[in-house]
Amino acid sequence: MILLNDLSQQYKALKKEIDAAIAGVLNTSHFIMGKELGAFEQEYAGLCRRNFALGAGSGTSALLFSLLALGVGRGHEVIVPANTFCATNHAVLLAGATPVPGEVKEDTFNLDPQKLENALTPRTRAIIPVHLYGLTAEMEPILEFAKKHQLFVVEDASQAHGAAYRGKPAGSFGDLSAFSFYPSKNLGGMGDGGMVLTDSPELAEKIFELRCYGGQVHNLPGYNCRLDELQAAVLRVKLKYLTRWNQLRREAASRYRELLQDTDLILPREFAENPSVYHLFVIRHPRRWKIREYLLKREICAQIHYQAPFHKLAPYRGLYRDKPSLPVAEKLCREILSLPMHPYITRGQLESVAKTLKEALREIA
Ligand SMILES: *Cc1c(COP(=O)(O)O)cnc(C)c1O
Repeated sequence: MILLNDLSQQYKALKKEIDAAIAGVLNTSHFIMGKELGAFEQEYAGLCRRNFALGAGSGTSALLFSLLALGVGRGHEVIVPANTFCATNHAVLLAGATPVPGEVKEDTFNLDPQKLENALTPRTRAIIPVHLYGLTAEMEPILEFAKKHQLFVVEDASQAHGAAYRGKPAGSFGDLSAFSFYPSKNLGGMGDGGMVLTDSPELAEKIFELRCYGGQVHNLPGYNCRLDELQAAVLRVKLKYLTRWNQLRREAASRYRELLQDTDLILPREFAENPSVYHLFVIRHPRRWKIREYLLKREICAQIHYQAPFHKLAPYRGLYRDKPSLPVAEKLCREILSLPMHPYITRGQLESVAKTLKEALREIA
């Protein structure tokens, strides 16, 4: 079976270091808010060139805390790209606000800065650009738009650890930025985890309170949703390999590109100013279900990230007075297919995927 992502390979490669990191935490038996978290927060703030990094229990909670810290809630709207992982829009709903789907661009899968205006109303308070599949959103025009209309920006960088846009790291742009360390992400723990980053001491203080019972003197009814020591220790080991792993993902993507160039599959575009870190390698074809079936029968995994724009999911259906019209997002949802992609994928596996894809195309022609 060629898997979409093979995490056991990661563990095998780093077994010694990871086992030692875990043993270190077990020996101190300091499990919550200790030295590992503090050190990891500092290191991660460095990667994202931010003043403050605060570990959280997951990417979803990192997004939720970011919105709550900004006071985004009841009566507010937040612009979210129509095609993202459901956690982005769920976080907005959990904060009490309404996520409004923004149209995306066909060649980036990310928010179309030119069409933000269509999603803007007097109730709009914030934008959450998502760096989907490892490609950073076009942050300059998005930040310009936000400034012009006095909107907060929260980056959802859960698929873009180590990515950059015009030389600046993903996670360095928004008023706050949120990351997930779910195991399959480019940087993933051995369980759930997340991080919020900001340059504002006031916002950092609020995140600190929200993740931990409302802070030292329980200023507010906070959650209990932190990044624990075992996860932080494992993530510190893996962080050292992030750049190398992203490089290997990019090399795998180039190989796919060479192997698939003469087919009628639409391949993800490369952009010089924001090179993707290929969290996923997503191709397009109108008959992707048939292709997927063909691959699966031959032991090659392929998945769809994601099947519907979020406003079509159950919790959102009744929310909009005017039915959102987002033809690009809908078209992409009908055509996308994610191929196996991870740092340890072999040349042989890439060739086997490409060969089988070409057979599938001939079969369905
Ligand atoms: C994974 C992911 C999240 C949620 O992260 P969890 O840690 O699973 O809660 C949010 N947004 C995007 C874009 C993601 O890919």
